[in-house]
Amino acid sequence: MLPIQVAIDGPAGAGKSTVAKLVAKQLGAKYIDTGAMYRAVGWLVLNEHIDPSDEERIVHLAESLRFSLTDSGIQVNGYHLTNEIRMEKVSAIASAIATLGGVREVLVDKQRQLAGEQSVVMDGRDVGTHVLPNANIKIFLTASIDKRVERRYHELKKKGESPSLESLRKEVIRRDHNDKNRQFAPLCRAADAILLDTTEMTTKQVVNQIIQLCRTKLGGEE
Ligand code: C5P
Repeated sequence: MLPIQVAIDGPAGAGKSTVAKLVAKQLGAKYIDTGAMYRAVGWLVLNEHIDPSDEERIVHLAESLRFSLTDSGIQVNGYHLTNEIRMEKVSAIASAIATLGGVREVLVDKQRQLAGEQSVVMDGRDVGTHVLPNANIKIFLTASIDKRVERRYHELKKKGESPSLESLRKEVIRRDHNDKNRQFAPLCRAADAILLDTTEMTTKQVVNQIIQLCRTKLGGEE
């Protein structure tokens, strides 16, 4: 079978990474979490006390990084990052540095290299519109703001954080605003992406629907 590319985009808390991982497993494809790459850079910016608006320095830092995506997280220059990049303070800084055009350019290049010639399921904000514009299947996942906040809340609780629902809601709204209004590759649905509202759907239902869409689409392309 020829390599296939599945692009899954959408706002924070729409369920992209959970769903993308399972879809990749069922398709026997590599899962690439582009958000983890922005988070890893954000985490380093925090730890190295770099000014988050110092684009030149952050671009330089991003260029020096070698990423590899594993089932349990991301490796950066051989160092494994998991829960530390999921914390709220890292979400905020990842969203800020993701507005910098130079940083996006470097990470998008690395994302395309990681995709290479193999079958991939890649999730993010600009995968269908910018990173893999020729992906075979493009999905835009969304859900109501209440549902997205609730999902983030449970995800963070599982990781030992205890955010208030109110502050989480503000943070998700702020990240949505950054993602949709930034100058470079803002979050938007690609013209040929299928919209899936997951508010009332279980993970299993969403995964089944995407697999079904892949079968229909790829069957039609053979
Ligand atoms: O998907 P996740 O919430 O892990 O992404 C972290 C942040 O990285 C997002 O808030 C978004 O601002 C940024 N991001 C992006 N483009 C992507 C993936 C993530 O701007 N393709």
